[in-house]
Amino acid sequence: MRPVLILDCDEVILAFAEPFRQWLRESRDIELRFDSYALVGNMRHRRDGQAVEPEHFMPLLDGFFAEGQGLQMPVPGVVEALQDLRQEMDVVVLTNIPAAHRDIRVEALRGFGLDFPVHANDGSKGAMVRELANGMPAVFVDDLPPHHDSAAKHAPHVGRLHMVADATLASLIPAAPAAHARIDGWPQAQHWIRAWVNGPGRQQEKS
Ligand SMILES: [Mg+2]
Repeated sequence: MRPVLILDCDEVILAFAEPFRQWLRESRDIELRFDSYALVGNMRHRRDGQAVEPEHFMPLLDGFFAEGQGLQMPVPGVVEALQDLRQEMDVVVLTNIPAAHRDIRVEALRGFGLDFPVHANDGSKGAMVRELANGMPAVFVDDLPPHHDSAAKHAPHVGRLHMVADATLASLIPAAPAAHARIDGWPQAQHWIRAWVNGPGRQQEKS
């Protein structure tokens, strides 16, 4: 029985903001500007400068997951960190992606040597974090604060690391008070994860 590392994909393992911006421009003639953390409201049609209607956001995101995942590269240091951590932990990916596009993500990750189980989730992640941790010392890493709220509620024994790999998003995203730590780079995150599963995580499992 080994500790478990539960990872979000976008902005934790793979870059999302820049490839999504590139795909929107090249495939949909839409400009995405990060004036705030929200994606909705920051998109404009390049032909006339009109804002993209909020109801068009989810179809655009689905379109990216169907057509654009090949643009996503690993964030700095993640491949090395995970090849190291997998020696002592079971690594699983918990990603909010349509189930129909899960296999594309599996193959994309495998192309970088990251052949981990991928769970396609919808909505809050806390219940799945609890299930995947399965009572073992565990760490959950995600860029979105609401997922840390949910994990704190459903899986309080799991270490919660708030990571936002993209530097622009990192400066815009709200704090995640439900997380135990905020670390945006993998070398430092790797140390924190190892310290958690060998320290607080292990003790909480026994208690
Ligand atoms: Mg994410």
